[in-house]
Amino acid sequence: MEKYNHKKIEKKWQEKWDKDKPHKAEDFSKKEKSYLLIEFPYPSGDGLHVGHPRPYIGMDVIARKRRAEGKNVLYPIGWDAFGLPTENFALKTGVHPKEVTKKNTDIFRKQIKSLGISFDWSREINTTDPEYYKWTQWIFLQLFKKGLAYKASVAVNWCLSCKIGLANEEVVDGKCERCGGETEKRQKEQWMLAITKYADRLDKDLDDVDYSEPIKIQQRNWIGKSEGAEIDFDIKNSDRKIKIFTTRADTLFGSTYMVLAPEHELVQELKSQITNFNEAEKYINDTKKKTEIERTAEGKEKTGVELKGVTAINPANKEEIPVFIADYVMVEYGTGAIMAVPAHDQRDFEFAKKFNLPIVEADLVDMDEVIEKVKGKKTIKYKLRDWVFSRQRYWGEPIPIIHCDECGPVAVPEEHLPVELPDIKDYKPTDSGESPLSKAKSWVNVKCPKCGKMGKRETDVMPNWAGSSWYYLRYADPNNDKALADAKNLKYWTPVDWYNGGMEHTTLHLLYSRFWHKFLYDIKVVPTPEPYQKRTSHGLILAEGGEKMSKSKGNVVNPDEIVETFGADTLRTYEMFMGPFDQVIAWSTNNMVGVRRFLEKIWRLQRKIGDGSDVILDGTIKKVTDDIEAMKFNTAVSTMMILVNELEKTKEISKNTYEKLLILLAPFAPHIAEELWDKIGNSDSILSEVWPKYDSKKTITDKAEIAVQVDGKVRATIPVSIDDDEDSVKEKALSNENVKKWTDGKNINKVLYVKGKIISIVTG
Ligand SMILES: [Zn+2]
Ligand SMILES: [Zn+2]
Repeated sequence: MEKYNHKKIEKKWQEKWDKDKPHKAEDFSKKEKSYLLIEFPYPSGDGLHVGHPRPYIGMDVIARKRRAEGKNVLYPIGWDAFGLPTENFALKTGVHPKEVTKKNTDIFRKQIKSLGISFDWSREINTTDPEYYKWTQWIFLQLFKKGLAYKASVAVNWCLSCKIGLANEEVVDGKCERCGGETEKRQKEQWMLAITKYADRLDKDLDDVDYSEPIKIQQRNWIGKSEGAEIDFDIKNSDRKIKIFTTRADTLFGSTYMVLAPEHELVQELKSQITNFNEAEKYINDTKKKTEIERTAEGKEKTGVELKGVTAINPANKEEIPVFIADYVMVEYGTGAIMAVPAHDQRDFEFAKKFNLPIVEADLVDMDEVIEKVKGKKTIKYKLRDWVFSRQRYWGEPIPIIHCDECGPVAVPEEHLPVELPDIKDYKPTDSGESPLSKAKSWVNVKCPKCGKMGKRETDVMPNWAGSSWYYLRYADPNNDKALADAKNLKYWTPVDWYNGGMEHTTLHLLYSRFWHKFLYDIKVVPTPEPYQKRTSHGLILAEGGEKMSKSKGNVVNPDEIVETFGADTLRTYEMFMGPFDQVIAWSTNNMVGVRRFLEKIWRLQRKIGDGSDVILDGTIKKVTDDIEAMKFNTAVSTMMILVNELEKTKEISKNTYEKLLILLAPFAPHIAEELWDKIGNSDSILSEVWPKYDSKKTITDKAEIAVQVDGKVRATIPVSIDDDEDSVKEKALSNENVKKWTDGKNINKVLYVKGKIISIVTG
């Protein structure tokens, strides 16, 4: 028998798959469609590390299994290639971002292909391809025409090192999400997308999709729907009022002070009344340097300044209460002012403690009534804010707008799309924050499409979230030049049946793409109100020892080396076996070697094919089948390991048993499965084999492990099938070796079986 030579085998089958294209999805096939999606990669210069393919392999296992079950599977891949890392790398090396992108995607493609993932490569897309971003721009124009894309002056988070405005979502712990650098707030004219108009539906429609619960919770928290009331507080000796929003109008009697956000316009308007305005002004300036996270973090020591000379009146009990400015109140949330109820709110409590303010336990009153009494207005507010959509950088989709002195911002006519990103030499970002594209004078200066006078192109580009907000639609019809995809293709393929991705994208990409999709649904471009029927997430892979893999720490495990030394099948199977798929786990080369041995055992089993009788595999088949669909890949693999160990003990095994094992193995380790399938005399590819069926009467589920008690003490557990009758379960219990130790030489007085739970043996 030849030795297991993964290099030879993997190369052979990858070449065959490349040629025969067995993973190609078929438009309009009569088979049931199954659209499986992973988050398309950003092709960075570092190439893949072993953490990247974990989600691709997981979904590949599902894709391969579902094809074997007779489904028409669409499992596509592409490149989310606009964005900062490429641009920064290009700036550092002097190689144009276009070149960098091409080089990086070539490396990624080669690496992914070396893992034998069954993507339909014929549908490969790239967000930086003008034929692709033509449609990203087209969607922007539809948003613009419906008034959902607009320009506004907003305070943006400015990253001092990237020299770029960031969306709130891109600032993590006060630092730039990309480079970890300091950020500050700057007032800038920006293109905005009115995602808040969809806040209600983005929240409500989560009821209709099958997302994992943590994902739903994160989305809901981000959207932050709260039902409450707006109530006006009078200001003593002033005709102005402080409008607050509260979800707890019932605690109104407990309000002992008020807080305005430092940026609240009333602070300036009441200037003449505030006797310590200098102190207040200093506090306002200090606040400007802080990020939202720094201001609102839980447990942070509360700061603030009382506006002396300003007194508000609690409308419920007419008591006079002091007014503060404090940075824990954000001007963008609610009305930018709060009634503080220290007895019922933790942050108000901390603040009141620090400033020695009264903490009054209020008698809770009926909300309806009290809102009416103080002439309040019931209202719903959202934490979600409109999406800052422009970036003052080079490597992104140009925003297809021409500014005209006469006509204002004018849409580029659709027939002129795409507005191609001009090839310029100097694409460095500027300190002033002006986009590098503004230096391309001949590109910038164009005629206004409306009046014909000279106008200027918009020089900001889109954020890298743009191309990924609709890419799953393009896979349905990737070469269409008349529409983003043909309506018939969209009707056949969408919604995506199953989308797996990173938990970190729940509040960014996932929310943005749901918003675009809903908009496209409203303008009748897509046939369903939601893009993804099901969403799950995977855990990261850490370096050996539990740290995050990073180049600087030198602990990155490169998949190329693993594939070279141990093989793609070992890497794939190990990544599925290493632990629960949705949990973070550390890499272990040792454990991977164990998986390699498992594959070697299967390789050697081919020698044993003979006249052995068929092993009853129903339990194994059921477990592997169910576990794959539940993304419990680790237990699916261990089930096969148990079977292989059993088969090793037997003298001969039947060809039928071995074949079934190979079919179950194929989604995890497709190359070795193909090779062995071929070796034992099959002329067709294992890919055309049907997924094995099982007889549920003969299956033993993992859940039905029951305890066996002897005289009140648990002495063993035994597996039982739901369908086992009472006598056979009792017999199984009594013949168990551990049980026998405690019953040997004794009289069995009684054997009790509580179905599916416990067996109790009484001796005496
Ligand atoms: Zn940065
Ligand atoms: Zn004009």
